Amino acid sequence: MVCYHRALCSSPRQTGPRRLKVIPRDQHCISRKNISQSALKVMARLRDHDHEAYLVGGAVRDLLLGGHPKDFDIATDATPEQVHALFRNSRIIGRRFRIVHVRFGREVIEVTTFRGHHGDDDEDAHPPQSARRSERGLLLRDNVFGTLEEDAVRRDLTVNALYYSSETFEVFDQVGGLEDLQRREIRVIGDAAQRYREDPVRMLRTLRFAAKLDFEVEPGSAQPIRDLRPLLAEIPAARLFDEFCKLFLSGYARPVLHLLRRFGLFAVLFPDSAQLADRDPFSARLMDVAMGNTDARIAVDKPVTPAFILAAILWPAVQDRVRQLEARGDTPGEALHSAGQEVIAATVSRVAIPRRFSMPMREIWELQRRLDKPQGRRAAALLSHKRFRAAYDFLLLREQAGEDTGGLGATWTRMQEEHGPVEVDNTPDEPPPRRRRRGGRRRRPQPVS
Ligand code: ATP
Ligand code: MG
Repeated sequence: MVCYHRALCSSPRQTGPRRLKVIPRDQHCISRKNISQSALKVMARLRDHDHEAYLVGGAVRDLLLGGHPKDFDIATDATPEQVHALFRNSRIIGRRFRIVHVRFGREVIEVTTFRGHHGDDDEDAHPPQSARRSERGLLLRDNVFGTLEEDAVRRDLTVNALYYSSETFEVFDQVGGLEDLQRREIRVIGDAAQRYREDPVRMLRTLRFAAKLDFEVEPGSAQPIRDLRPLLAEIPAARLFDEFCKLFLSGYARPVLHLLRRFGLFAVLFPDSAQLADRDPFSARLMDVAMGNTDARIAVDKPVTPAFILAAILWPAVQDRVRQLEARGDTPGEALHSAGQEVIAATVSRVAIPRRFSMPMREIWELQRRLDKPQGRRAAALLSHKRFRAAYDFLLLREQAGEDTGGLGATWTRMQEEHGPVEVDNTPDEPPPRRRRRGGRRRRPQPVS
């Protein structure tokens, strides 16, 4: 018996003309005891009702690599409606991809129906409302259902297209994912350029998994990214914010940043920050240090917020704008205020930062000016500001990146020690949401991917 984090399985048997590899239980290291009980229950219930059900995606990949999956996705031949009918604790979400979320307390098991071939040239077989593409090949909807073999080739990366049966304990591989796990390579399934055109977010996913797993991107999957990266601009800003969080809040933000910069995708998401990072070593270091700190916090289970990382990514652009506004005659306070506003406004059109994060970002920035004056009553009052701690951490970040603040960080550290624990004003950032009018517009949940 072998594990893929040590060596690849011994010769898996081949079945059928489609070269679906079936790896029996004694030739891989997945054990049921590492699988969520809830996921096992969902698969068992689907099978009891004569459906196929497999663990798929990140969970199988991470189990084969000897890791601990953070969530468990299931693929089945049951339609979303059939799945929903079997689980009271479930709901159908998404439009582009209709999937079912089955909830067990705080755990959510995502159940997807096998995706099938589109038969784009066969409109009768698949009515247009099941699948839709834009003129440029962007997949607007993908709800054509199929078999496991068809589902595997519609997934993004070979290492994400492995299936595990909790009934027979076998692993199924249709696309060479096992070899790529062994080679430590990220490979897009099928023609990479076409798959990126169908869904440009896949370019971000390629780099995200390369960073997360510390794998190389194989040349065929790497090469089209430079040319196709402008397509990311077609993706709704809300989806890019979701993807931003997955990229930067999963514990490997630093390698992600390096890859995004190397492949030119950072410049699509944050054009000004990318330019500044390229020409000014302090800006590049600030972002790098912020990512390193975030990863270190996640490694010891400390909380992290997108506000802090975004504050660091956009700070060089804010500073740049401050200089221009001051040259035009604005006071330093006015300049910082307007620069913060402008930089955020320019960013949200690409990456939709919700207000609950953009407000604290602006406070962190504006407090940097107040931290310049660590004397007097106003300085003492600052210690109890609800954003003091984040602003102080940000000041330390600037120093870590090489800015000479004249020892401000140490001064504020001393101030906190002298004043002892301070009561922090914890008023919420936003007023509680107002109750929706009866019959008012309901917001659709965003598709996960
Ligand atoms: P993790 O949850 O560890 O970030 P994951 O591989 O489970 O990784 P998810 O985003 O949860 O990633 O997606 C689940 C699975 O769905 C993926 O493994 C992949 O097979 C498929 N998938 C997700 N997004 C896409 C996409 N844009 N195009 C094609 N397949 C996708
Ligand atoms: Mg997942």
